[in-house]
Amino acid sequence: GTTRPQLRIVIVGHVDHGKSTLVGRLLHETGGLPDGKLEMLKAVSARRGMPFEWSFLLDALQTERDQGITIDTTQIRFRTKLRDVILIDAPGHAEFLRNMITGASQADGAVLIVDALEGVRDQTRRHAYLLHLLGVKQVAVVVNKMDRVDFSALRFQAISDEISAHLIELGVTPAAVIPISARDGDGVATHTDRIGWYRGPTVVGALDALKPALALDELPLRLPVQAIYKFDDRRIVAGRIEAGHLAVGDDVVIMPAGKRAKIKSVERWSAMPLEGEHGAGRSVGITLDRELFVERGDVIAHVGAVPSDTRRLRARIFWLHDQPLTAGSSILLRLGVREVRGRVVAIEKAIDPGELASVETKQIARNHVGEIEIALAQPVAADRYIDNPRTGRLVIEVGGRIAGGGLVLSIDAAQRAVS
Ligand code: GDP
Repeated sequence: GTTRPQLRIVIVGHVDHGKSTLVGRLLHETGGLPDGKLEMLKAVSARRGMPFEWSFLLDALQTERDQGITIDTTQIRFRTKLRDVILIDAPGHAEFLRNMITGASQADGAVLIVDALEGVRDQTRRHAYLLHLLGVKQVAVVVNKMDRVDFSALRFQAISDEISAHLIELGVTPAAVIPISARDGDGVATHTDRIGWYRGPTVVGALDALKPALALDELPLRLPVQAIYKFDDRRIVAGRIEAGHLAVGDDVVIMPAGKRAKIKSVERWSAMPLEGEHGAGRSVGITLDRELFVERGDVIAHVGAVPSDTRRLRARIFWLHDQPLTAGSSILLRLGVREVRGRVVAIEKAIDPGELASVETKQIARNHVGEIEIALAQPVAADRYIDNPRTGRLVIEVGGRIAGGGLVLSIDAAQRAVS
């Protein structure tokens, strides 16, 4: 059968603007709650003489997860018509940025929530900036608590205009701006009379319209070479297919050298030749139809869809080392299996994740985010993160330890090594 695409989303917004309430509602409306959970919590609230809050649901689920009761111990999930939605927890900015930028977690899209009465606040703007830093391009905005402004279309439009302008300035075009009452349910999964003037999608509808992560299989072939083995007279080039797929007879290019060959065979370690197509995530050994110099760290790609070869790139990184990163620092860069020495040419930006604002300094402190330019001792084959979320990542080592990780923002094509 067909597999439903997974959509990983994060919900952000000013505290108290209704994130937990929206999540509780979404779980309820999409049937994502364990049987009887809602009734039980409503009964408990009534017994204690306090009004039921949708956020109790999250607290209850969180407690169970902490105690290891539920099977799915890490994430909140629910199903819309078209997608399996996974909510990524955003514990604190620093931790969140670290996880996202170093690749521990990844969001395909985001929901930014704004209280209709309170309007766009500083924290709302900082969260918009956070989404920009993370490279999240698909953002649905919800204007929540419309019940508190009598479902005024005018108020909605004013907030919609303000937040849209701000997002667009950051390079993010909102996928939708949706008036809702998370508490009462208007606009979450259904259009109601109270928002009868609104013609756009509901929150669930907007989530269905977001694009799931690029399927790695559908990206251009990237086979980073891990090792070369000699068996009798054959040389087997081994590695893991990070993106795309390959088959016997394909015309390929060895990057960064740019030499061409044909795939002669695809081998398994039993030395049994393999037929057919081989896709992302699979480890393979291939032989080529020509004797070429291939080394660990090279990347095999298809003719016409090769990564850039460069000695210079720009990256957005999360810095983990005690010693701040400064211009002129010598580093060891890992791009996939490739290791290459480099030097930080410039620190273009340093960002304090707590404040979510640029800081003046020309260095990147521990647990800060930065944008840097790196010069490399040797040419490498590289992809930009927006083109390939797998091969567009890098790790920085200092003194034999991981000191930072990040995303390749751009590759300086003027610094190509060979032609
Ligand atoms: P969070 O801090 O962003 O997670 O916000 P919560 O979900 O905890 O909500 C904060 C408060 O706003 C709670 O008292 C909610 O009951 C209330 N709230 C959330 N959504 C709505 C809504 O649509 N209408 C109204 N009137 N109150 C809401």
